[in-house]
Amino acid sequence: MKIAFIGLGNMGGGMAANLVKAGHEVRAFDLSEPALAAAREAGCTTFTTAKEACAEAEAVVSMLPNGQIVKQVYWDDVIGHAPEGAILLDCSTIDVATAREVIEVTEAHGYQMVDAPVSGGIAAANGGTLTFMVGGTKAAFARAQPILAAMGKAVIHAGDAGNGQAAKICNNMLLAIHMIGTCEAFAMAEKLGLDAQTFYDISSVSSGQNWSMTSYCPVPGVGPTTPADNDYQGGFAAGLMLKDLRLAMEAAKAAGAKVELGDHARSIYEAFAKNNAGLDFSGIIRTL
Ligand code: NAD
Repeated sequence: MKIAFIGLGNMGGGMAANLVKAGHEVRAFDLSEPALAAAREAGCTTFTTAKEACAEAEAVVSMLPNGQIVKQVYWDDVIGHAPEGAILLDCSTIDVATAREVIEVTEAHGYQMVDAPVSGGIAAANGGTLTFMVGGTKAAFARAQPILAAMGKAVIHAGDAGNGQAAKICNNMLLAIHMIGTCEAFAMAEKLGLDAQTFYDISSVSSGQNWSMTSYCPVPGVGPTTPADNDYQGGFAAGLMLKDLRLAMEAAKAAGAKVELGDHARSIYEAFAKNNAGLDFSGIIRTL
């Protein structure tokens, strides 16, 4: 299949390469020359404009920094340039309202579109093991599914347009809350004279058990190997967690949802990211 891919950054670069490996003809575009060079190396055909990349494409995948850029790319470069009837997949993490607006407008122009944000970081993008949460009609999902399956280990239909983004920000809000809670528990255990490994051995088989503890332990040397064992380098940057929490708070306000802990987590990550935006989000334990 001829697939245009727009946004070949940390995530998009690996995802485009996996589409090539799956046998697709990938028509790649990014504003950055090094990103284009890496895409050529991975077997993509590169173009000097997004419009050219979209021409002739049966599908368009985008992986861009934010909602404003997504809107600009779809308005200026995709609508009227990708052939009518093409399936459009935006995998960026953006606000729910913009995701719904872009799908509504592109579908009014004769396209089918899904929002398909991802769970999993750069390693999962490179390894083709992302989880996609997908919003859109059943028909659009059916067309998007095999394309996404070439880049991930799980592709889940979350419901109508925008529901992929809704699932993503609700999930990441919960992740932020249980990571902070897990860090507080380890820090308090230490202050009470309890060894971190002993606390892990008890809590990981008790009711405090959660993903932040047993899959992503914030304490070095305890549990599986995590960014904590690499001085909190790599993993999921605190700055990206803050981005997702801000999107979650925006959505909560629009929907009238009460999210006191989510908002508290946002303020904690806001303070942390001021000087540690590039550090893994589990590094929050250093502030305790
Ligand atoms: P990135 O900044 O590395 O990549 C974004 C790319 O988009 C850059 O190469 C940039 O040059 C390009 N770009 C910007 N404007 C453009 C335009 N108008 N036309 C074409 N290209 C343009 O970011 P990333 O880490 O790859 O993240 C991409 C998206 O994935 C974000 O929405 C992010 O929130 C989400 N995400 C990231 C991670 C992660 O661990 N990095 C995990 C999950 C989700």
